[in-house]
Amino acid sequence: MAKTGPFRASSLLPLGSTTTRRQFVAGAASASLALALPLPPWSCQERQFDTVVVGGRLIDPAEGIDAPSDIGITDGRVARVAERIAEGEGRQVVRAHGMIVTPGLIDIHTHVYDGVSGVSIDPDVVGIAKGVTTVVDAGSSGATTFPGFRTYVAAPARTRVYALLNVSSPGMTVSNELADFAYIDPDAIVATVEANRDMIVGLKVRMLAGIPGGNDIEVMRLTRLAAEGAGVPIMVHIGGQTSPLPRILEMLRPGDVVTHALRRNRSILDDAGTVYPEVREAVERGVHLDIGHGRGNLDFDVAERALGQGIRLAAISSDVHRGNALGPVFGLPTTLTKFLHMGMSLEEVIRCATSTPAGIFDFGEELGTLREGAVADLSVFQMVEGDYELVDSGGKRRTAARRLVPYAAMRAGRPYGAITR
Ligand SMILES: [Zn+2]
Repeated sequence: MAKTGPFRASSLLPLGSTTTRRQFVAGAASASLALALPLPPWSCQERQFDTVVVGGRLIDPAEGIDAPSDIGITDGRVARVAERIAEGEGRQVVRAHGMIVTPGLIDIHTHVYDGVSGVSIDPDVVGIAKGVTTVVDAGSSGATTFPGFRTYVAAPARTRVYALLNVSSPGMTVSNELADFAYIDPDAIVATVEANRDMIVGLKVRMLAGIPGGNDIEVMRLTRLAAEGAGVPIMVHIGGQTSPLPRILEMLRPGDVVTHALRRNRSILDDAGTVYPEVREAVERGVHLDIGHGRGNLDFDVAERALGQGIRLAAISSDVHRGNALGPVFGLPTTLTKFLHMGMSLEEVIRCATSTPAGIFDFGEELGTLREGAVADLSVFQMVEGDYELVDSGGKRRTAARRLVPYAAMRAGRPYGAITR
């Protein structure tokens, strides 16, 4: 391939496994998203920004922006957001004409302890390569297995990687991490969180069918104890609880998260298909509802029913891992496309993957917005029109008329895939 300035054409490949080379060539021709040095060598004009992103439609729910806006980035931070910034102001230019620019997406439920926890996948494959600049690993590691996750997976990743520490010491490196109550060691949990506050943002507990004696309330009690000691929120995976869901919800505090809210069985709907009043009360007092699509946890009928009853989601997450990354989940953009198809607005689905997840956990950095001064984590998407088949965790199909396709992303101003000097 021909070189374009200092950037090889290979650096311009769009993101996402679903985009073919032909689509890329077509996209590049029509939308011309490119990195280039726009000024001729004889120019001595001072360039104000390291990078400018021009021509896109910026959707930043945290700032209430949905408008054509250009972005100037310097030293990894957003230096200016304006209706128009000249290309000549940037040493690098990202041309996003005809595309959607958002704060870098945040996926609060993934499994990325690649090579150690059974189904986990490389965080960059499902993260920044898909426009998701921040992933939260939801419980793949526990107190005894977290150090390896930190050193060998999170540290070298191009994606920001955070963790919800599994309350079970081995985490999901064993087939049933709650097979023995001895696996839950509140002191070890608190010590591990305290030593890793920059990365561990909460605890993960899974209501599994294999909890000894079906005593899920005892598991919740120990989890609560550890969470209070560590001062972090809990994400509880529902679906395998033996107790009624309202009994689990009673043990949650404001700031905690219920994931797999819209699964087929034992979801937030009662047997009659109505949202439990206790779920509404929990949301009222600050408990967050999350999707966690996964291989078994998003049902289109349940989702349509719950959304139809006005239930408000805090986060849309993928629960992506090796067992579903080739379908039905694929990743966060496809999961967002499903909710777009089910009637949520584009602004609302972007909000559920940017500003609201950013507010759920303490990431130690202002994420989920492109306001001036914020870190320049940014994603560019194409909205591709045309029939696209969506499949839920149970194999139900819907045909969408459009879908979000990741095109480019940057973390702290550094474009993923680009040759940077
Ligand atoms: Zn999960």
